[in-house]
Amino acid sequence: MSILIYTEVSKGKIKKASLEAVNYGAKIASMLGTTSTAVIVNCADAALLADLGKAGANKVVQVKNDKLKVLDSQLFAQAISEVAKAESANVIIFCHDLFGKAIAPRVAVKLKAGMVPGAVDYPTLEGTNFVIRKNVFSGKATADYVIKSDNKVISLLPNSFPVTMSDNTATVVDMDVNLGDSKIKVKEQKVSSSELSLPDAELVVSAGRGMKGPENWGIIEELAKTLGAATACSRPVSDIGWRDHHEHVGQTGIAIRPNLYIAVGISGAIQHLAGVSGSKTIVVINTDKEAPFFKSADYGIVGDAFEVVPKLTEALKKFKANH
Ligand code: FAD
Repeated sequence: MSILIYTEVSKGKIKKASLEAVNYGAKIASMLGTTSTAVIVNCADAALLADLGKAGANKVVQVKNDKLKVLDSQLFAQAISEVAKAESANVIIFCHDLFGKAIAPRVAVKLKAGMVPGAVDYPTLEGTNFVIRKNVFSGKATADYVIKSDNKVISLLPNSFPVTMSDNTATVVDMDVNLGDSKIKVKEQKVSSSELSLPDAELVVSAGRGMKGPENWGIIEELAKTLGAATACSRPVSDIGWRDHHEHVGQTGIAIRPNLYIAVGISGAIQHLAGVSGSKTIVVINTDKEAPFFKSADYGIVGDAFEVVPKLTEALKKFKANH
């Protein structure tokens, strides 16, 4: 019995959500008196592999396979299931991000595992069963789910767990896996041009239909740049094509839990809140004092984004210059 954690690299670093998952896996391993193994695909960078050890993995399996150079979730699921079998892993951990959401359920089916997607706490043990907490009703409540099967798949809501690094070292092994042919054809892969990965960002500036059009996003980007924040948007904004789909947060987009979420010209519909209500501090800027978002805000500014946002950016620039 052991724990396997699926990890990824983004923009030359191990994703923060992957480090959270490795920490989480190491904690379960110590609860169960076993070891944890991180699995990473086509990453030969020794420093990055060492980071997985520092995050708590006892072993790192580096899967080398040219078929995994494209993000084909079916082939990835096949590969991770093979590694789980080779490592006799019965608890497999993923991040609940876009790719994790595509692979984890497939792995669960292949391994006949019970699965909890979007866990927000460490499991408690009931014999060999795991009791795992997750958000329900768009984040308005939590529920405890019991996984009773021998194999267990858990995906973690990003930014729900702290990351601690130590001087632990992991043994690194290369592994190839026998994969069938892909059933899908990936025509194009676009890497987001934004410097910060939205799910990993500590600070996020997000805007909605109140911005009136894509040509007005300059003030949002300027505020984000001044803060060192990632940018996000509401769903209609990405549906209309004002912003790229990868910025869309909410029930049907990415779920994020940054330390600071600034929402500009977003009404605060329940489906939007579902993806952002876990943010530690929420600031809302809206002309309508009745906008539902104010009910979830820690700080609210009733005002016109086109006046408030440039003033906020100027104030932040002055503050930064003086500190
Ligand atoms: P609006 O509702 O049009 O709000 C614009 C806001 O801007 C208003 O509050 C207005 O007062 C304010 N405003 C206008 N002018 C200014 C100004 N000058 N300065 C400041 N404020 C101004 N939505 C998501 O975001 N994410 C999801 O994942 C998502 N999933 C959905 C899933 C389903 C099944 C359904 C049915 C809907 C989903 N939606 C989602 C849509 C959601 O219900 C809302 O329609 C959407 O969030 C509204 O986007 P918005 O706040 O940008 O636009």
